[in-house]
Amino acid sequence: MAITDMKMLSGIMELTEDEKRWDPEGPSTLPLLISDAMIPLLSLPQIRKQFVPSALENEDAEGNLDPQAEAEHKGTPRLVHRYRNRAAFYTTDRCFAYCRHCFRRRFTGHLSGPASENEIREAAEYMAAHDEIREVLLTGGDMFTLSDSHISMMLGIFRSICPGVILRLCTRAVATAPERFTDDLMAILEKHKEGAPFYLMTQFNHPAELTDAACRAVSRFVDMGIPAMNQSVLLRGVNDDEATLIELSDKLLMNRIKPYYLFQGDPVRGTAHLRTDIERGLEIEKNIRHELSGLGMPQYTADLPGGGGKVILTHCYFRGKTESGRYLFGTPDGETRYYPE
Ligand SMILES: *Cc1c(COP(=O)(O)O)cnc(C)c1O
Ligand code: SF4
Repeated sequence: MAITDMKMLSGIMELTEDEKRWDPEGPSTLPLLISDAMIPLLSLPQIRKQFVPSALENEDAEGNLDPQAEAEHKGTPRLVHRYRNRAAFYTTDRCFAYCRHCFRRRFTGHLSGPASENEIREAAEYMAAHDEIREVLLTGGDMFTLSDSHISMMLGIFRSICPGVILRLCTRAVATAPERFTDDLMAILEKHKEGAPFYLMTQFNHPAELTDAACRAVSRFVDMGIPAMNQSVLLRGVNDDEATLIELSDKLLMNRIKPYYLFQGDPVRGTAHLRTDIERGLEIEKNIRHELSGLGMPQYTADLPGGGGKVILTHCYFRGKTESGRYLFGTPDGETRYYPE
């Protein structure tokens, strides 16, 4: 049975003082919910930090709740249109488990519930009228908390009104609720495959989350011809070290998942204790790029405050131009090379 409060949690594990002092009514505004699949993993500190709340959340009352100013870029009430050629649709506010680092916590878990048929139709019509939109992220919350019939209705509407738009299925449920991916659900996806492709966008932050059940759930998508991409968040004490990220990347690739983004934690209220600073992040980026293939390397990315958008953060190998007009580079091995004009 999923864990929904601290009392249940204290029944299965010894809580720390910070965890005991967590105030559910505090300013961090994200409910406690830990799914069955995550419970056996809580003995690992890297998983515990992602799902067990702590009073440190309440002590970070300064941070913004909407650093990406998503509320200002609404195409429709449920559709954020911030980039010209792609948009994000909030399918629901629910998840199977709530991540303590969630950047959309002003919305997640706050009972706005599933998008209604009208809201879905309104978003699909907006996209049909804005034919510069080539992709939509079906996000939330987690779309797979919706019932089979709701998912079928939603996909049916998008496919009939804007069939040329790529649908990104954004979900953490392959990790947090792999049992959700039943034959019935997969048949619904199969039925709506016609039109622009689906892409599965997962969130695995630590190699231990790639359990056998999670990998089997991802395989069902990939076997169906749906490419899988992973978006991780760089989290203090979870994956902010080179060895963990390299292991994560290897495990993702072995399961046919392309590491896509490694996000810098957004400066969202209640998450300061989980952020790694950008300087250390850049050092990690440089070190893992040296070890990983191009296929295995995610793009380290920050979503700039005030709705500035995503920017790639990377160590710069270009050092400038010499007086004789040649270009100067530092190599990944720390040597120097000149490139002719
Ligand atoms: C991140 C994001 C996207 C997708 O961006 P990509 O760089 O293409 O992955 C689209 N819309 C919004 C609002 C986003 O935050
Ligand atoms: S799965 Fe995504 S939306 Fe849900 S709590 Fe985690 S980060 Fe937030």
